[in-house]
Amino acid sequence: MTTLVFLEHHGDELLKGSLGVLAKAGTLGDGEVAGVVIGSGVRSLADEAGKFGAAKVYVADDPQLEAPLPQPRVDVLAQLVRDKGIDTVLFGNSVLAADVAAGLAARLDAGLNWDLSDLVEADGKLVGKRPALQDSVYVDVGWKSEPRIALFRSGSFDPNATGGSAEVEDAPVALEDFSVSARMVDQAHEESEGPSIEDAPVIVAGGRGLGGPENFTLVEDLAKALGGAVGATRAVVDAGWYPYSTQVGQTGKTVSPKLYIACGISGAIQHKVGMQGSGTIVAINKDPNAPIFEYSDLAVVGDVHEIVPKLTELVREKKGS
Ligand SMILES: Cc1cc2nc3c(=O)[nH]c(=O)nc-3n(C[C@H](O)[C@H](O)[C@H](O)COP(=O)(O)OP(=O)(O)OC[C@H]3O[C@@H](n4cnc5c(N)ncnc54)[C@H](O)[C@@H]3O)c2cc1C
Repeated sequence: MTTLVFLEHHGDELLKGSLGVLAKAGTLGDGEVAGVVIGSGVRSLADEAGKFGAAKVYVADDPQLEAPLPQPRVDVLAQLVRDKGIDTVLFGNSVLAADVAAGLAARLDAGLNWDLSDLVEADGKLVGKRPALQDSVYVDVGWKSEPRIALFRSGSFDPNATGGSAEVEDAPVALEDFSVSARMVDQAHEESEGPSIEDAPVIVAGGRGLGGPENFTLVEDLAKALGGAVGATRAVVDAGWYPYSTQVGQTGKTVSPKLYIACGISGAIQHKVGMQGSGTIVAINKDPNAPIFEYSDLAVVGDVHEIVPKLTELVREKKGS
């Protein structure tokens, strides 16, 4: 088995999701696992990937690959698959990765299984695990032909910092005419402080129980004290209280921090599926029958407006001491 992992980067950082997929790939079979970094001025990222377990990293480094557009990346990957006899290509989910994976599947007439949460070997074959029916069951999915392409849910795997080093090889950059006909006109970045919701070890999430957008300062303060990020439910995002990028759940992000603190969140199944992989779940809700308590490790029955500021104070005191 020769597996290739698409190592996506933002700026000069490889995405945690890609590195998690790389770690997972390393646990499957005895075949070779390589990563690929595609962009402009990205050579140093290959060394970084080596520290996370990539024995080999292909680098496609070209100014034409500067903009995060999918088709030029499909060109690079398709050629690598053909030249290097790669039979499996794995992606951690992102807007770009989903586009590239779909484009590659179309280009190579290959099967793409998406939204997977795991990949195992059974009877010498790769089997993907895909959550279905609002994540209440896992469906086994496979591939009828090679190359097999898979896109994993964000947060499915943790990166493994092995401290190794990678053999780096240049990947050819031969772009199709139609691939360079799209141009990125503008790119906007949301300004945010602290760790991103996908990477944060701690998430403090707020729901409608906060009572209004102005009360999000409560969860922001606690998140800051704990060195974490802020999450939100769809109800508050839809109401315009907090940005969509922070939504956790079925139609938002899947997260798996070490600690998830849910403040004024009822715990609907659509929210649960986005955060149930968290290490420890603490819920603060004034309703003792709130569904979130059914899957919390620690249930605090009470008013968020009283409890959250006290908790923040306590954390600050502890950290200060
Ligand atoms: C197709 C579909 C997709 C969806 N996708 C998502 C998704 O991705 N993510 C998501 O989150 N939701 C999603 N939803 C919505 C989901 O069903 C719920 O409506 C939503 O999660 C509820 O948000 P909430 O917990 O903030 O609000 P509510 O359900 O209104 O809960 C508020 C909670 O706060 C408590 N409360 C009130 N006041 C206080 C107080 N002062 N102190 C403490 N507790 C208090 C209440 O007891 C209650 O439990 C989706 C729904 C559908 C149909």
